[in-house]
Amino acid sequence: MSDPLMSCALAAGIMAFLASFAVTNLSRHQIATGRQSPCQPANSGASIAANGCAPKHGRNGERMRILVVEDDADLADAVTRHLRRDGHAVDWEHDGESADDILGYQQYDLVLLDIGLPNMSGFDILRRLRSRGHATPVMMLTARSEVEDRVDALDVGADDYLPKPFDFREFDARCRALLRRAQGLASNVTTVGRLVFDRAARSARIGDEELHLPNREFRLLEILIGRLGKAISKEQISAQLFDFDDEAGMNAIELYVGRLRRKLGSAITIRTIRGFGYMAEAGDGSA
Ligand code: CA
Repeated sequence: MSDPLMSCALAAGIMAFLASFAVTNLSRHQIATGRQSPCQPANSGASIAANGCAPKHGRNGERMRILVVEDDADLADAVTRHLRRDGHAVDWEHDGESADDILGYQQYDLVLLDIGLPNMSGFDILRRLRSRGHATPVMMLTARSEVEDRVDALDVGADDYLPKPFDFREFDARCRALLRRAQGLASNVTTVGRLVFDRAARSARIGDEELHLPNREFRLLEILIGRLGKAISKEQISAQLFDFDDEAGMNAIELYVGRLRRKLGSAITIRTIRGFGYMAEAGDGSA
C-alpha cells in the first residue's frame, strides 16, 4: 500500500494548474455530453492549500484519465476534488445514459461507477462496456449493506467495489491498486487489419513497421479506432484530444488527420464526414 504522503505531495504542485484547468475541462465535457454536470468542480482550490504539501512533479507526471459516474453531487464533488488533488484528469457524469455514451468513445484509465443512477443503472453501464470488449478498470461504488450488489458488481465485470460511505484512505489505496494493475497491463492491444495499436506501450505499427506518432497523433488514432466504423464529430475529437491544451483549435484536427492518413497508408482509412467529422475503417489489408 503506498503512502498517503505521496498523494499529498502530488496534490499541491498541480493545484494552480488544475484550478484554471477545471473550468475549461468542465465546459468541454459539457460540449461532449450535451449535458450539465451537477455541480461545480472548479471551486476546489480553497480547501487544499491548507495542507502545506510541496509539489512533487509537473503536469507530465503519472496523470490518469478517470471518469466518475455518481449522481450524489456532494459525494461526486468530494471524489472529483480528491482525485484532481492527486493529479488526475477527472470527468464527472451524474446521468447513467450520458456515462454510457461517453464510455462509447472515450478511453479511461479508471471508471468509478455508482449503481443507482438516473436513466441507466451502473450495472447496465458496466455490462455494455464489457460487451463492447473494453477492459477499462471499473470500481463500483456500492451500498455497504447490499451483499447482492457487491456480488453482482463483480459478476458483471467490476474489478473492485467500494462500499459507501467510505474512508478516503481506503478509496486511495484501491484506486492506486487498480491504476497500477492497469499500467502493468502489457496486453492493452487493439489489432485492426495490419495495424497493431498498443496503448500500454504507446506504440502503433503496421506489420513490422513502427509508426512514429507524436502524442496528439497517437491520441487521435486511439480515438478513431475506438470508434471504428462509426462517425465521430470534430467536437468530440476536440474534447478528447485537446483536454490539456488550451491553445489548440478545431483546424488542428484536420492537420493531424492529414498526417495520420499519410502515415497509415492503406492500413486504415479515415473518411471525412462532410460537415460533421470523421470515421475510421479497416483498410484494404494490402500495402
Ligand atoms: Ca446513486
